[in-house]
Amino acid sequence: MTATDEARGFVETLAREGYERVRPSYVAEHTHADAAEAHAVLAAMAENGDLDSHFEVICNNSECHRTVARYERVDDVPLGKELECPSGHRTAVTLQNVWVYYTPSRDLLLRVNREGQGSGGDQKKGQTASPKAVLSRLISWVMRGCRTKQAMRTRKSQ
Ligand SMILES: [Zn+2]
Repeated sequence: MTATDEARGFVETLAREGYERVRPSYVAEHTHADAAEAHAVLAAMAENGDLDSHFEVICNNSECHRTVARYERVDDVPLGKELECPSGHRTAVTLQNVWVYYTPSRDLLLRVNREGQGSGGDQKKGQTASPKAVLSRLISWVMRGCRTKQAMRTRKSQ
């Protein structure tokens, strides 16, 4: 089993167990997939309709960190613009304060719950051929995810 298959199976398990939010970093921590692979798997699953993607802008104020806005599509994230958080801080939207997370789609929930009852076949959906477009837009998040994971590893090993 490849790390990608393992990550995909892990996400399906989370969906079956009722997890509402899945972050790439969480998948990378609990499987053999690295941050880039976890991002790729989740992006591909979102393209397939198994996951819904969400983008959350976090307030830049170091004592606040509240959610400023949420978007369903990466194209809707107003990069470079300024927004006001619920506490009134002016926050510039940059790649550093946009968080991506995913929620299991209705389709995925129906499928994993059917499989969980043992009545359904193990029919795999066709792989999408074009996650590349999504990946190229997500590459900055991938890079950030890698740095975060490295930082965590460094902390753990000390
Ligand atoms: Zn704030």
